[in-house]
Amino acid sequence: MYSYIRINVCRLLSEIPPHVSVVAVAKTRTPEEIAAALDAGIHIIGQNYIQEAISSRTKLNENTSCHFIGHLQSNKVKKAVELFDLIETVDNLKLATALDHQARLHGKVMPVLIEVNIGREAQKSGVLPDELPGIALSIEQFPNLKLHGLMTMGPHLTAEKLRPYFAETRRLFDNLQQLNLPDTNIRYLSMGMSDSYLIAIEEGANLVRLGTAIFGQRC
Ligand SMILES: *Cc1c(COP(=O)(O)O)cnc(C)c1O
Repeated sequence: MYSYIRINVCRLLSEIPPHVSVVAVAKTRTPEEIAAALDAGIHIIGQNYIQEAISSRTKLNENTSCHFIGHLQSNKVKKAVELFDLIETVDNLKLATALDHQARLHGKVMPVLIEVNIGREAQKSGVLPDELPGIALSIEQFPNLKLHGLMTMGPHLTAEKLRPYFAETRRLFDNLQQLNLPDTNIRYLSMGMSDSYLIAIEEGANLVRLGTAIFGQRC
């Protein structure tokens, strides 16, 4: 069962350079499909929904880390802090404040990425490039959050047309590193999905989020 998942993972892991980590995006997938990806060598699971993360949690082993990659509502912050090893989608101060508070209650320092709205699209989540230094400075001040880098979705475009957006996110990432904020560890640049990860890696991504390329089309 699920031999196609094993084949997809092996092919991806052999073509993706070793400094890049693959996040297997689990939305709509069954615990058995997720287990097949883990068996084949995946170490990071990405979840968009808290409820799905709860139903598949029991199957994860200690070597697996879990990233939250969806839109985090304030009433789910407590669960998110309990369930996840990294939150990729912090995009406003209110959310950062709530995460810091819950992390403190859990005695945990929560690793986070800032989601950037690199296409400056009105309906999309993420901070605008101009707001990035300000929010990074604020997150650095929170004792129970640790900033690990940036994440972006990019506009809904074909891979080649996404290249300039990935390149701009890379420049923001480099600038953020050069700020040398003391209590941070700026090391992850999460960009690229199944149809764009090769371009994203060329432009500097070191975390790619793959659903379809691993599990096939979502139905
Ligand atoms: C669904 C999703 C992905 C993966 O999409 P695919 O095209 O299936 O690879 C990546 N990132 C986020 C935030 C997603 O919601």
